[in-house]
Amino acid sequence: MTFASNDFMPFFSNRFFTQYTSNKFLHLNDNAEATLVTEVALGVHSDLFCIQVGWEENKRSGQRQKLLKALRYIWSHPVIKPFGTPAPVQCPRCRGLRTWKTECHTRDSVVLRCKKGSNCFTQSFKRTPSAEFIREWTPGNEGLWMKKTEMVKPLQ
Ligand SMILES: [Zn+2]
Repeated sequence: MTFASNDFMPFFSNRFFTQYTSNKFLHLNDNAEATLVTEVALGVHSDLFCIQVGWEENKRSGQRQKLLKALRYIWSHPVIKPFGTPAPVQCPRCRGLRTWKTECHTRDSVVLRCKKGSNCFTQSFKRTPSAEFIREWTPGNEGLWMKKTEMVKPLQ
């Protein structure tokens, strides 16, 4: 596992690693997604990369193939970090701090509007189609993790 944040602060991963090691060694579940479902502090701070080796059946030849995979887990929150992109702290027009209000929030898009005025500033975010939510998206959710396959490489 590794992290995407350029200025990574380990403090924000403490809760995640405590829960992950508990799941792995006490409950014998080393699937990171089971831990991420309840994790917020890490998601606000950084994406998580999981690099793993696994087996997959080749659809053409029918043979099993050993693969190296890099998965990126991205936390998405409709106001703080829509689809993994941090919303600006400051409105570029009125310079207000944390003035964003969710105007539209669907599975694939988020529109934020500045609360200072009806025509102050609006910004839109779109979900990258290759990033899927790890749990079912529901209207009104307040933060979900998404998974994106960054790399798949066959191994000998
Ligand atoms: Zn504004």
